[in-house]
Amino acid sequence: MTYKQPVTIARGDGIGPEIMDATLRILECAGAMIQPEFIDIGESVYLSGNTSGIPEEAWESLRRTKVFLKGPITTPQGGGYKSLNVTIRKTLGLYANVRPNVSYAPFVETKHPNMNLVIIRENEEDLYAGIEHQQTPEVVQCLKLITRPGTEKIVRYAFEYARKNNRKKVTCFTKDNIMKLTDGLFHKVFKEVAKEYPEIATEHWIIDIGMAKIADAPQDFDVIVMPNLYGDIASDVAAQLTGSVGLAGSANIGDQIAMFEAIHGSAPDIAGKGIANPSGLIHGAIMMLVHIGQPEVAARIHNAWLKTLEDGIHTVDIAKGGRSVGTMEFAEAVIQRLGQQP
Ligand code: ATP
Ligand code: MG
Repeated sequence: MTYKQPVTIARGDGIGPEIMDATLRILECAGAMIQPEFIDIGESVYLSGNTSGIPEEAWESLRRTKVFLKGPITTPQGGGYKSLNVTIRKTLGLYANVRPNVSYAPFVETKHPNMNLVIIRENEEDLYAGIEHQQTPEVVQCLKLITRPGTEKIVRYAFEYARKNNRKKVTCFTKDNIMKLTDGLFHKVFKEVAKEYPEIATEHWIIDIGMAKIADAPQDFDVIVMPNLYGDIASDVAAQLTGSVGLAGSANIGDQIAMFEAIHGSAPDIAGKGIANPSGLIHGAIMMLVHIGQPEVAARIHNAWLKTLEDGIHTVDIAKGGRSVGTMEFAEAVIQRLGQQP
């Protein structure tokens, strides 16, 4: 019997189950050699009284399979529920968040048809380190944490990613003119590590003007590395510039474990209607297949997905008032095109 890679799967909340079912059906029809292992996390777990949102047996599965395909999660408002996304990243040491943003013009409407950039966001430190205090009833404080080992790891990851994927330039964003110690260290380490990769061009922008440049001319960027919070904001902007937040997937990489997901949230406003775009999660799954050594299956799915868009088959977020199909219908259209070239 052929080996099937065990993969932990959380269907998630809101549109999660709909887009996960669509994605898993494509994976199955494309011949992905995976053995799904389902875990329940998120809203139902929080509401059952577990404030972490994730039960013990889910951790056990994750630590064993080391590969996680995750649907979006809803964190209930109020009641002191911790963000499961932050908990999972920190507990599993997923230090690099990799988010490719690609335009698919003319098949997806965008003002920036030549965009093809990858944001590499530091995923554990910065203002997400969770060091927040109430000093007095009217004064609160959140501390920004930047470490040399953490920064070296993410910056080196960005350069290695560039080298492996034949990318020509790595850009760094910080605000080191104001935060001279924290962002200053990030920029300094960037310059040091860059010397080990003489074949790759480098540049640095202060985050505010850097973001303005992404909004104006995203085609000028290739790989961009930055601290956690800036990366969060920059990657939503970049995804929207390609046409829809429903398109992009992301990889969260650690030394042992990796998690793959769509960049968007659980979209409660359209949940249960069968109209969500599954493309972000499909892209997450494609990145997962490459990670577990099944790049041919990944390419088969990606080609079929591209062909589907080229044939004008769109979910409602992309259709811009034209004819649109539902989540499953879109997935079936991708499946019909497996084996076809775009
Ligand atoms: P979170 O806090 O979980 O990141 P969010 O507030 O950023 O959530 P999303 O859930 O990402 O919000 O949704 C933002 C908007 O984009 C919503 O109007 C939603 O309907 C739309 N949207 C998100 N994902 C999709 C998708 N896959 N297909 C279609 N529309 C989507
Ligand atoms: Mg969001």
